[in-house]
Amino acid sequence: MTEDLQIQPKSQFELSSRHSFALPAACEQLIEVSAMVQLPLLGWTANTLILGEGTNTLFIENFQGRVLVNKLKGVSITETEQAFLVSVKAGENWHQLVIQLNQQGIYGLENLALIPGSVGAAPVQNIGAYGVEVGTFITAVEGWDLINNKPVRWANSECEFGYRMSKFKRPEWRHILITSVHFSFPKAWQPVLSYKELSDLPATVSAGELMQRVIEVRQMKLPDPTKLSNAGSFFKNPTLSKQQADKLRQAHLHLPFYPQPNGQVKIAAGWLIEQAGLKGFQLGGAGVHTNQALVLVNNGNATGEDVQALAKTIQTTVYERYGVMLEPEVRLIKAHGLAEAL
Ligand SMILES: Cc1cc2nc3c(=O)[nH]c(=O)nc-3n(C[C@H](O)[C@H](O)[C@H](O)COP(=O)(O)OP(=O)(O)OC[C@H]3O[C@@H](n4cnc5c(N)ncnc54)[C@H](O)[C@@H]3O)c2cc1C
Repeated sequence: MTEDLQIQPKSQFELSSRHSFALPAACEQLIEVSAMVQLPLLGWTANTLILGEGTNTLFIENFQGRVLVNKLKGVSITETEQAFLVSVKAGENWHQLVIQLNQQGIYGLENLALIPGSVGAAPVQNIGAYGVEVGTFITAVEGWDLINNKPVRWANSECEFGYRMSKFKRPEWRHILITSVHFSFPKAWQPVLSYKELSDLPATVSAGELMQRVIEVRQMKLPDPTKLSNAGSFFKNPTLSKQQADKLRQAHLHLPFYPQPNGQVKIAAGWLIEQAGLKGFQLGGAGVHTNQALVLVNNGNATGEDVQALAKTIQTTVYERYGVMLEPEVRLIKAHGLAEAL
């Protein structure tokens, strides 16, 4: 009996069905948090990882710790003369929320349709697409402080939203389990059509038509993670100083670039990877998607190490060619938790 116990693997809870890369991975303990009354009982250990739907998470190896999966559900809506106020529990599905609000005549999130994942993860990296970021509509984020065992709440101005960034993404806040997100959607709605893929739509486009276009564009451009396992854009688009970007553009005339309000310039990571000849490149069971070079995929039999090795190869090749170091957008999980670097 003792012998049996000794040979039991330490990592017993499988995680491959809990993240969209679907890599073989496991953890030592897994708790689904579906009721607020569970929160005070959870406590804190340094090897705790909070997970939503796992669509921005790469398990490089088995996680030697405890995973808390957010399953808190509920949506409540009130209104003022000017705006709809929407409070959503963190375990709701993001795309379902976008659809539900659109159907109820509450507009603003159309450009963020079909982004996979949970509502609670949306503020973590300030999800964004087609010229809109979720932080624009967030009034407050509520959470549970697992160390001090008490509820916490931050107003928008305290969330430090930036490009694919917020305070919640920083390691010192990883003991906060986001429980709900509060939004305000102005009743005076304006479509955001600045991106090339939407720019042919008339200014009179309805919110429903805009949402439909975003869904179609995304379905055309991005692999469906339920059919080809992936975690969306693997790297962030690098932001360079104007001087650095100008120098790069002199050498590479077709480099797509996007001037930012702060004077910096964002360049397309996908273009760099493609021009470096890596589109479709395979390493072990992992590969660079054949249509969208910014997306790495699990071809069915990849391991976390395969994806890590592929991502490192891309980083090195792009750096050697363009002098630009790509930074992962995907959250990297190693045996002892979140890792900042590959
Ligand atoms: C095909 C595809 C397309 C994508 N397109 C986009 C896009 O256009 N724009 C974009 O911004 N992202 C995109 N993503 C990334 C992903 O959809 C988002 O980052 C999403 O918000 C992740 O949600 P999740 O619940 O799956 O998060 P997870 O992967 O489960 O977690 C992500 C991070 O958030 C933390 N976290 C999750 N829930 C909580 C919580 N309740 N409290 C505290 N921390 C928490 C986790 O610890 C982790 O660090 C895409 C992904 C895929 C697969």
